[in-house]
Amino acid sequence: MDSRGFPRALSAWIAALLLAASAPLAAAPPRVVFFFIGDGMGFEQVKAARSYAGEPLSFELLPHRAECRTYAADNAVTDSGAGGTALATGIKVNNGVISQEIPGAGAELLTLLEHAQQMGKMTGLVTTAYLTHATPATFGAHAASRNHLDDIAGDYLDQTRPDVLFGGGGQGLTVEAAQAAGYAVAVDAAGFSALDARTPGARVSALFGEDHLPYEHDSIKSGEDYPYPHLSEMVAKAIEVLDRDPDGFFLMVEGARIDHAGHDNQLERMVHETLQFAAALQVAVEWAANRTDTLIIVTADHETGGLKVVEDNGAGRYPSVTWSTTGHTAVNVPLYAWGVNAQLISGIMDNTDMFEVCTADTAASRVASPETRAGREAREPVLQP
Ligand SMILES: [Zn+2]
Repeated sequence: MDSRGFPRALSAWIAALLLAASAPLAAAPPRVVFFFIGDGMGFEQVKAARSYAGEPLSFELLPHRAECRTYAADNAVTDSGAGGTALATGIKVNNGVISQEIPGAGAELLTLLEHAQQMGKMTGLVTTAYLTHATPATFGAHAASRNHLDDIAGDYLDQTRPDVLFGGGGQGLTVEAAQAAGYAVAVDAAGFSALDARTPGARVSALFGEDHLPYEHDSIKSGEDYPYPHLSEMVAKAIEVLDRDPDGFFLMVEGARIDHAGHDNQLERMVHETLQFAAALQVAVEWAANRTDTLIIVTADHETGGLKVVEDNGAGRYPSVTWSTTGHTAVNVPLYAWGVNAQLISGIMDNTDMFEVCTADTAASRVASPETRAGREAREPVLQP
């Protein structure tokens, strides 16, 4: 990888990618699942980053594409709590809720991470936000509100205990608490490279700072090195840790700050967060390229900013754009997939469809009241009988 944390040039792996994509799809559920979420990454965010890059982004080369509805149980415009919960559990909940049955009796909803653990797989959460932020929380915790950061941290350390927890620290998740819970913890780049990825049974965490990770663009602009490992490097390390379980693994990767830049209508920051997210995805694809047991999903929880690209100004230049809001919007978001079950990704889908695509498990016991389940059953089933 180069200093930006970018793997080798796209052209070097396209051939391998296309070869593997034409390999027969396994009938069984995927052994390995990568779930990539670009927070706030709508179609126009992808278009803007591609315009700057002057070439398609890594995930745009994945062979299966669709668009995905994002609405929450109580609002056409979702937040990352409800959006993440729908992706992680297959159930629509109210905005701000973290994988609990609300509306409903408040029961904890089985997440993709927990489902993987039930299958005996190792699991990981990697994000550029602080780890107790809404999107990773929907996979590894249950809380009535995304603001209950201490509860979310407690669920990570005492209940779900993912094998990998890489992201920003603080915000309810302290180094001391993680160590006391049996995690080897890195707090800087040196500690991160020294993390022993291969000790059997060892859980590893990177808690960088006490907030979100810095924007990629800020380092590019100042000419200084990015102060922490890039998202792509965190993904590479996570794979090193998780690629030792014969049962496979589940890894959620979030490009969290695409959303934050969108809230501030900051195009440059948004573009470079998206490019780094694409670099992180490329690491996963390169690992998976010759495999036939892996599913890679790339999507977003919602769009942020009402972005529109109005003019492509060529590679290395930022496109001309307009923003319509500093909040989220209700537009559908892109969905890209490769590997086992990727052929199920087509047309217009719902964020609640992803649970079955990832597990091929229609019988998984997902606690849900008739009211919340109604939304699921009204739609067309994504899995063929
Ligand atoms: Zn947001």
